[in-house]
Amino acid sequence: GRETRLRVVLRVRPLTCTETRRGDRQVVHSLGDGSVHVCATRHDATFGFSAVFDAGASQEAVFEGSGVRQLVELAIDGFSCTVFAFGQTGSGKTYTLMGPLAQSETRPAAPGLLGLMQRSFACLLEQSRGRGSDLALSASYLEIYNEQVRDLLSPGPPCALPLRWSKTRGFYVENQLSVDFESLEAITSLLLQAFNALPAGSQRRRTSAHALNRHSSRSHALLTIYIHSRAVSTHPALGGACPSKQGTLCFVDLAGSERVKETGSSGELSVEANNINRSLLALGHCISLLAKPRGKQTHIPYRDSKLTRLLARSLGGSGITLMVACISPSSRCLSETLSTLHYASRARRVTTRP
Ligand code: ADP
Ligand code: MG
Repeated sequence: GRETRLRVVLRVRPLTCTETRRGDRQVVHSLGDGSVHVCATRHDATFGFSAVFDAGASQEAVFEGSGVRQLVELAIDGFSCTVFAFGQTGSGKTYTLMGPLAQSETRPAAPGLLGLMQRSFACLLEQSRGRGSDLALSASYLEIYNEQVRDLLSPGPPCALPLRWSKTRGFYVENQLSVDFESLEAITSLLLQAFNALPAGSQRRRTSAHALNRHSSRSHALLTIYIHSRAVSTHPALGGACPSKQGTLCFVDLAGSERVKETGSSGELSVEANNINRSLLALGHCISLLAKPRGKQTHIPYRDSKLTRLLARSLGGSGITLMVACISPSSRCLSETLSTLHYASRARRVTTRP
């Protein structure tokens, strides 16, 4: 019940080949003590985070240094834990969460490149094996596309699910599927299924190619693992049973913020972009209000978007939350980078009561 701050870490991806080829300057430099320095014409600012991972940081270093392992353990202990990646399109959110998996249709990613999600699953299953049959694991996978909540695990064409609220459960999605799993293969194939391994190679999750990122995610994706622990005690004095616990571990890959002008989006794409930007704006607004001291907080408008409703518990309720802000070091991305850094700095003041 104690107030706990959101943990915010920053990842700066390397310059891409395209950025290097066209001679983009690197304007973000890690100072090595959890802070970064942005240095460009008319901009000179330093931002501090719980940790900063620069271009040289491996996927493993990000997993170990961001505290995800501890989140897995807390989720087993019955807490609601959330990891969310945010940042401009092409800044490395999907890479950080899933590695290059989402980008190749058929080739599996090299083990060293696996993202935070697969590493967490492995860690969770390892713990689960240690506890025998006391842990039951299941998963659900949703996306929010054009302000509709869709089930990425249900067969057939995607249909919108209602998002409801109840006093006991808070906001929840009605009729969402959840799938039990017991092995790393099963949960990984679930990820792949939602991403790309469907009939005729059709991708379930909405992605479309535009100028900034060939595999841009056009939807917010939320994968939730439910961890039910049947803590059975063998101590005779306890009569054989202890209360069971239900924890969750949720990974949120936010669609990138973007300017319609820069991505060259038009028609359907610009409708998508407007919906994405509107929900990210709603999220930013909630974060700004939540960042005020508790005594000064007014009403938090979670109901402004589906995204903020689904994240209400992680942001202002009883969850434990890690934000991974992703940025590009390129001079061309400066204004989006600064906005991500400001957004992330504000989020550091948000507290929850796990
Ligand atoms: P986002 O999900 O934020 O739109 P992606 O994760 O798809 O961005 O990354 C954009 C591109 O940059 C991809 O080609 C990805 O492989 C590459 N990339 C991102 N982060 C890294 C990294 N840390 N190291 C190497 N390549 C990266
Ligand atoms: Mg992405």
